[in-house]
This record gives sequence, C-alpha cells and structure tokens, in this order.
Amino acid sequence: MLFGPPGAGKGTQAGRIVQATGKPQVSTGDMLRAAVENGTELGRIAKGYMESGGLVPDEVIIGLIEERIKQPDAIGGLLFDGFPRTIPQAEALEKIAPVSMVIAIHVEDESIVERICGRFTCASCGEVYHDIFRPCKTESVCDSCNGTEFKRRADDSEATVRNRLSAYHEQTSPLESWYFDRGLLRRIDGNHSIEQVGQEISNLLDE
Ligand code: ADP
Ligand code: ADP
Ligand code: ZN
Repeated sequence: MLFGPPGAGKGTQAGRIVQATGKPQVSTGDMLRAAVENGTELGRIAKGYMESGGLVPDEVIIGLIEERIKQPDAIGGLLFDGFPRTIPQAEALEKIAPVSMVIAIHVEDESIVERICGRFTCASCGEVYHDIFRPCKTESVCDSCNGTEFKRRADDSEATVRNRLSAYHEQTSPLESWYFDRGLLRRIDGNHSIEQVGQEISNLLDE
C-alpha cells in the first residue's frame, strides 16, 4: 500500500511498482474519476465530494473495494494507492484482506501545492507528468506511449488542494500510527528525486 498526502508521488511510484512486480494498481481516485466520466450512479454520488476536495463517504469506498477484491486478478495481491484514507476504511480492509506493507511517502504541504498545481497526465496511458519536475522528453509527446493528448484534473487547483490537505491531516494522517502499531509501516522521504524515491521503495520491496 502506498500512503501519503495528495501529490506525494503515490501514482508516479505505483506505475513503477506495477512494472516491477506485476501486481495490479488499485487507485480509488482513478476508479472514482472513471465513474464520474461514465456518469454512473457511483460517479453521481462521488462528484460533489471530489470537486470540493472532501472525502467520499466510507461506505461508498468500502463497497467499491469489496467488489474490486473479488476480481480474479486480485489473487496474487494488489497495490493500493490512495486507499484506505480513514480508520473505518482500514478496519474494513483488515476484515477482508491482509496488508503486507504500508509505505508512507513524506512531503511537506508547500511542496505538495507546487506538485499538484503542475501535474498533468497522458490521456491514453495515464503516465504522470509535471510542468517542471517531470516534463515530457519531447514536448507534448508522452514518453511511454507517444500519445499527444494530456489531461489536467479540475481539482488540481490551489484552492481545492488546501481542502484536500486538511482532509488528509484530519482524516487520513491518523492511519500512519494505526499501521505503525501493527508493525506494517515503512517511512520514506518523498522530497528526493523520482528516481531516488523509486530506489528506496524497491529496497523496501526486496526486504
Ligand atoms: P499522488 O498520486 O500521491 O497524488 P503523483 O504521483 O500524481 O501524486 O505526483 C504529483 C505530482 O508531483 C506529479 O506532477 C508528479 O510528476 C510530481 N512528482 C512525483 N514525484 C515527485 C518527486 N519525487 N519530485 C518532484 N515531483 C514529483
Ligand atoms: P490525490 O492523491 O491526488 O488527492 P486521488 O486521485 O487519490 O487524489 O483522489 C481524488 C479524490 O477522490 C479525493 O479528493 C477524494 O474526494 C476521492 N477519494 C479517492 N480515494 C478516496 C478514499 N479512499 N476515500 C475517500 N475519498 C476518496
Ligand atoms: Zn502515454
């Protein structure tokens, strides 16, 4: 499980872990955004919470994860990114599947705002970029799939980021000690380069 504030680099590192381990990535944020785009019932419920930067209610998220864990590809283990985000979500997960490791990526709030406001992704493959910290090698061409269309999230604005950070500090950060108490937590410094953070994570995965 990758744990940390919005913009810490979870999605960026998840892409690398998936390549290295073959375990499917489960990002509740990506699942919710897909539901909003497809106009499903779930999307209709989640939209307002996501736009304001608040958390989607626990029962909705827990239902989504219960369904995801039943898929055949979950048998060999999953990589969670952005889930759980509250203690009730972690308690629900504990009842349905064991967690082997929680990697907490630490980044200060001021860097978070900078990271999120410059974030964009490839519309075809989802590769994560940043205007300054992770530009495309050839301008406007995706390094991994050669796609030329990119997306920016509506909630990646400074005003919404502040709300997302308060939701993180109030509702999500208590999970760090919750997992520490269970002996599952590993902490890493997310202020280093993408490469260095990736290296630290792969050292942990080799443990
Ligand atoms: P999260 O999934 O935790 O919200 P992302 O992986 O989407 O975070 O990263 C947020 C932004 O910060 C992206 O634009 C990404 O390119 C950039 N980023 C990720 N890791 C680093 C890093 N170690 N140094 C600088 N920028 C980074
Ligand atoms: P980031 O890590 O950049 O904040 P995500 O893509 O993980 O963004 O999440 C986007 C939004 O989706 C959150 O602001 C929240 O509204 C909702 N969300 C995602 N995962 C959860 C979750 N596990 N519990 C509650 N809300 C969630
Ligand atoms: Zn791409």
